[in-house]
Amino acid sequence: MSQDTLTPPDALRVAVRVLCAFTAQAGDLDLRFTPSPTAQDGVAGHEAVTARRPAPYQREVPLRSRCGDLLVQGRADGFDPTAPRLEEIKTHRGDVALVRDNHQALHWAQARVYAWMLCEQLALERIEVALVYFNIDTHTETALTSWHTADELRQHFHDLCARYIRWARGEQAHRLARDAHLQTLSFPFDGFRAGQRDLAGATYRTHSHGRHLLVQAPTGIGKTMATLFGALRAMPAQGTDKLLYLTAKTPGRQLALDALRRLQPDAPAGRLRVLERVAREKACEHPDKACHGDACPLASGFYDRLPQARDEAAQAAWLDQAGLRSVALKHNVCPYYLGQDMLRWSDVVVGDFNHFFDLSAHAWALTVGEPWRVGLLLDEAHNLVERARQMYSAELDPLMLAALRKAPPPGLKASLDRLHRFWGTLGREQVAEQALLTELPDGLVGALQQHTADLSEHLAVDATAPDARVQAWLFEVLHFLRVAEVFGDHSLVEITHAGAAARGRAPRPHLAIRNLVPAPHLQPRWQAAHSATLFSATLSPMDHAIDLLGLPVDCARLEVPSPFDPAQLTVHVTPHISTRFHDRAASLDDVVAVMAAQYQALPGNYLAFFSSFDYLQQALARFEAAHPDIPVWSQSRGMAEIDRNAFVARFTEHSQGIGFAVLGGAFGEGIDLPGQRLIGAFIATLGLPQVNPLNEQLRARLQARFGRGYDYAYLFPGLQKVVQAAGRVIRGPGDRGVVILMDDRFARPEVRSLLPLWWRVERG
Ligand code: SF4
Repeated sequence: MSQDTLTPPDALRVAVRVLCAFTAQAGDLDLRFTPSPTAQDGVAGHEAVTARRPAPYQREVPLRSRCGDLLVQGRADGFDPTAPRLEEIKTHRGDVALVRDNHQALHWAQARVYAWMLCEQLALERIEVALVYFNIDTHTETALTSWHTADELRQHFHDLCARYIRWARGEQAHRLARDAHLQTLSFPFDGFRAGQRDLAGATYRTHSHGRHLLVQAPTGIGKTMATLFGALRAMPAQGTDKLLYLTAKTPGRQLALDALRRLQPDAPAGRLRVLERVAREKACEHPDKACHGDACPLASGFYDRLPQARDEAAQAAWLDQAGLRSVALKHNVCPYYLGQDMLRWSDVVVGDFNHFFDLSAHAWALTVGEPWRVGLLLDEAHNLVERARQMYSAELDPLMLAALRKAPPPGLKASLDRLHRFWGTLGREQVAEQALLTELPDGLVGALQQHTADLSEHLAVDATAPDARVQAWLFEVLHFLRVAEVFGDHSLVEITHAGAAARGRAPRPHLAIRNLVPAPHLQPRWQAAHSATLFSATLSPMDHAIDLLGLPVDCARLEVPSPFDPAQLTVHVTPHISTRFHDRAASLDDVVAVMAAQYQALPGNYLAFFSSFDYLQQALARFEAAHPDIPVWSQSRGMAEIDRNAFVARFTEHSQGIGFAVLGGAFGEGIDLPGQRLIGAFIATLGLPQVNPLNEQLRARLQARFGRGYDYAYLFPGLQKVVQAAGRVIRGPGDRGVVILMDDRFARPEVRSLLPLWWRVERG
């Protein structure tokens, strides 16, 4: 519920659209593809229909009506006072029979609500209600009509309102209790750790003043608890609707959930509704089925059972993955889509970055559309640059098209061939193995738009049994088009022949739009959020993060000093070793010797980081040959979760050995190995990204935008990974350990300046 619905304290307001969506949805959840118009098409369709109506037809008629103390507001699409006839206009593509029953029920509900509001306003006794479906491709109208008396419409309106009021009153009471509870929220430990109070205070001030804050704070001070506590305390006074705690990786979510549990152990009155959002694949109970009532039992009758499930979920309040699943299965509804509904009714949402920043993020759409007042807490925020680049990039693989052309679905051959020919021309125009373009190739968007129209039409013909291959391909093309729509000098087009040629089957190049600077995409998200705190152990230098993330210029900054004693960590640089690509073979023996010497001097658990799997394999082979007595274990490419867990489980209080890993990979951050579980790390790389044409373009763009091309493209991201990896060693005040930085460049002042201030770096 938006803030607007809650002021003054016991007034209720709702838009017709929201009222009907809440009360009038019935039947199955049905996510089968139906070709749908864009928002722009919808506006154009409405204009086309109303332009056909002669005077005195009225358009966009503002209406409001009361039911008890609920004020309902909206705009009717069209009204012909001579009939009198109310028109609710919906645009569509394909056969009008494809409009799902549950959608049509919703459309009728909206039309009838508007019809009542008109009857009331104009003292009409009867009115004709028309649902006008306008095909935006053929410009034909299909009108479904019925006459209603004012009494019937009033009864319908009051029924919907009664159901909504019951829920909204409950929500209002929950909100008041929640805010009262948050005003008295106390820190759940006896005291703050060093730096933790500063962080909690800064977060509180940031969220109290509607600002954004960037925090670098070392591991071990309790960032999760500090930021949650500060942001939650700020919620009541700010009228914050939701707090979104978003992370780059799954383990961070659990830490947030644990902290939220601790913050309100026994608070039945006013306790927060906490929702964990997980990916659909992880929440799905029937991965072999499709999301519609004919295929999945949890989609069948979903909307009929949703109100009871929603009630119980709201009561349960603690909706982590297991909690939500249990409520969903009790009511026989899909856990994932129950979670999507509960996003509206939750106070704290714990999820992934993409739940707010993705191009099609639901939480983002609701934040803007409702609108909500949202606070953001972003854990491991140093990952957001790279994650955002991925979210705003897209690829088209010619092999997918080739596979479809091999066995073309009926009626699509001509369209597939047309795109294939266009793609071929594009490939011939770009003869280089890899072309990087600053503009979208002429005709590409048009060709893809025409192709998606053909694919949509094809799917519309038999929407009950859609061809999964066509559907998957359509989604790829649609995503590409979405990214193409927002193409600018923050991105470039990459056309690559090498990959396709090597696979030997598709003589067409691979097409990609690569986002280089995510700032322009992220800026509207920061503007929509009331406040945001981004935190990480490695955000230094902060200008880099602020520039690339497009954070507001007045973004506050906080660097929390390390609570650790420099004596806890010995840091060595080895000036005689170069791990530059062309020196690696020659320095391998030295790398192995340094590692073995350290291990023999102080046996225990170590992590050794290398810049790539190839380099790791070479070092591992050389190490095993030279020191077969020292236990080693290694990360492998594409490691499954179970194997990753096994890798980490090898580090015990009593084990000894060296785990070989890739810098920036699964073990370079986010794993916690306190005490004897890890006593040292070897880092045989500066972590600099590979020099290649794409990264060189990135460097040039960043130089042009920010004047720091090399630093922003190579040096800073590399050193962030080094510091993250080294940060695995000291996890608490009792830890002691060693970090050996194996490259002469670590001794350079510009590199040393990027290492944590509390490290005492020694040569040798
Ligand atoms: S359980 Fe799976 S298949 Fe069924 S509706 Fe949910 S996500 Fe779709």
